[in-house]
Amino acid sequence: MGVDVVFFGPPGSGKGTQAQRLAESLRIPQVSTGDLLRGHVAQGTELGKVAKPIMESGALVPDELVTRMLRGRLAEPDAACGVLFDGYPRTVAQAAALDALLAESGRRIVSVVFLDVADEVIVDRLVKRAALEGRADDTPETIRERLRVYREKTEPLAARFREKGLLARVDGNRPVEAVAADISRAVAAAAEAAR
Ligand code: AMP
Repeated sequence: MGVDVVFFGPPGSGKGTQAQRLAESLRIPQVSTGDLLRGHVAQGTELGKVAKPIMESGALVPDELVTRMLRGRLAEPDAACGVLFDGYPRTVAQAAALDALLAESGRRIVSVVFLDVADEVIVDRLVKRAALEGRADDTPETIRERLRVYREKTEPLAARFREKGLLARVDGNRPVEAVAADISRAVAAAAEAAR
């Protein structure tokens, strides 16, 4: 049996990099709703057409659309025994939807990694990433907007997960290796406790 783990943190926290490493070590697929949405945009699907301007503005794509997309991804065979959720849930409604989706197959979240990073570090990293990757949603204005949306809609989820005893806060203001080691330890302990 695999495990279901949620990864969250501000844009530019190094979440994608750390999530990829953890998914590899746990041998579960990393499911990034941002990547899935970018795939839809690139392919010009109906969802992609709706999502594109929203993503470019730094706002969140409506919960129902993202949740429907995620449901489809979870139906794929590689997701049957656990998933690392990267960038989902981002709202209270999505957190409830994820619990319900997992419950359909008798699963539940075993750990929520909260990668905590200071604002100054984030803006600096995102500006550098914009230059490297040429992401359309990494302009200074959208960076600020995405951070604002994150603080308003997503960060409050930390309290919800803490109440459920699932939150593993990791200080992300440190070198990649040190952060990765803390994350592995926290998730291993949670997975062990959930057995
Ligand atoms: P990310 O790559 O996770 O930073 O996501 C890039 C953009 O995709 C976000 O700024 C949102 O516009 C959109 N997005 C990704 N995941 C979600 C989600 N769970 N809910 C709503 N919008 C999302």
